[in-house]
Amino acid sequence: MPTVQRILKKVKKYDSLGDTAIIQKAYDFALKGHQGQKRISGEDYISHCLAAAETLADWKLDVETIAASLLHDILDDTQITLKELKNEFGENISKLVEGVGKIDKIKYQGQERAAENFRKLILATAEDIRVVLIKLADRLHNMKTLAVLPKEKQKRIALETLEIYAPIANRLGMGELKGQLEDLTFPYVYPKKYQQLINIIKEEYEEREKYLIKARGTLEAKIKKEKIEIVDIHSRAKHQYSLYKKLLRYDMDLDKIYDLVALRIIVTKDEDCYTVLGIIHKLWKPLPGRIKDYIALPKPNGYQSLHTTVFTLDGKIIEIQIRTSKMHQKAEYGIASHWYYSEQKGLIKYLQKFLPPIHQIMPIYQKNPPPRPTDKDISWVKELQKWQEEKFNSPEEFFKSLKIDFFKDRIFVFTPKGDVFDLPEGATAIDFAYRVHSEIGDHCAGAKIDGKLCPLNKPLQNGQIVEIMTQKNKKPSQDWLKFVKTHEAKSRIRAWLKKHS
Ligand code: MN
Repeated sequence: MPTVQRILKKVKKYDSLGDTAIIQKAYDFALKGHQGQKRISGEDYISHCLAAAETLADWKLDVETIAASLLHDILDDTQITLKELKNEFGENISKLVEGVGKIDKIKYQGQERAAENFRKLILATAEDIRVVLIKLADRLHNMKTLAVLPKEKQKRIALETLEIYAPIANRLGMGELKGQLEDLTFPYVYPKKYQQLINIIKEEYEEREKYLIKARGTLEAKIKKEKIEIVDIHSRAKHQYSLYKKLLRYDMDLDKIYDLVALRIIVTKDEDCYTVLGIIHKLWKPLPGRIKDYIALPKPNGYQSLHTTVFTLDGKIIEIQIRTSKMHQKAEYGIASHWYYSEQKGLIKYLQKFLPPIHQIMPIYQKNPPPRPTDKDISWVKELQKWQEEKFNSPEEFFKSLKIDFFKDRIFVFTPKGDVFDLPEGATAIDFAYRVHSEIGDHCAGAKIDGKLCPLNKPLQNGQIVEIMTQKNKKPSQDWLKFVKTHEAKSRIRAWLKKHS
């Protein structure tokens, strides 16, 4: 079980100037508030607060967030009021706690009321991302301890986690958390499918892991010979749920899944990633069409890495991922690491302005901290804010657009100039046209996909280059509404038809 001492130790390691006393104070306050309360598992309630706080410390979040996480259930589960909390901990922390409480009241049911409440979730999200991060840490612990709950509750919470919180984690670029949450829900939401998967992968998994250890030795020696510094080289097993989804696309044929276990190489510099890729391809031939440069073209959630799949000399096919430490941090912790890095950068800049010793700077720093990364920098937040401005005729419509545009799997397509746009799966050239510009959508006459003319209703595929041809006299057609996927395209087409009818 985590303790407050352990959390403080972790925080001091990455935030030596943070006011850690506030964490201790929050702990004491929460301990007293939850006194005598037990979790269904029989543990003291405070253990749940500590678990959430430790997760946030692992993500290297600021002291306010960690203090707020210790207090996150205090308003709903004890007699303590918001006013008392404000008096005790100030505006910032009490606002975070209040935000978490608001999200807690939202129960995902896919009904009218849920849609309304969901909007509040989005608002809270856009207002302060740290609220969402606390909620995710809270949910992670609840998922880990789900086994003790009654069956009905298990299913509801797991489903909500799978359909709402895991996609949010993904959107925030928190790949590791997304995978963890999905895997925790899998046996509850799809018990039979889960068992089926476990049966399929068991032996194969062990065999491939064994082989990778062998391949790793060969490769490590080669890279070191070229004087490239390796921070870490390890194998990583694909998360179960995403593996299952991939298997469904490959007729459950495990032989076609090359990244069941992948080799991951962490280096220090961007250039080294490409050098290592060269070394690998000199050693083993790559599978055509499977080299992915997410460094030059990051995924929309910020993910960066080089991926390649190679034939090794033993005739085995393995996937290798190459990235720098910073890319690795970002891939695992997403927006949380963005926070950390910006704060570090801000701090260093700030310290450079002053040369006096640190104990003299500290009060200044605390009084006037360097700017935090603003939400505005992050594109998904912009997307959230856009929804706020959109008009929806009914809560269902809002919910539907949310589900399709936000939570469904995305595809990534290019303009001929190389700009990347992400669209929901199943989106068509018309959706793309409206995403690029409403005028282009309104005057769309045809589309070329990878250089070839294509019907406008054809769903786009990942990685395609889409060129929209426009004509001045072309107009949106009622028929388009039958196949467009994004809310954006639908509302623009409807608006045009209404205006011109
Ligand atoms: Mn909680």
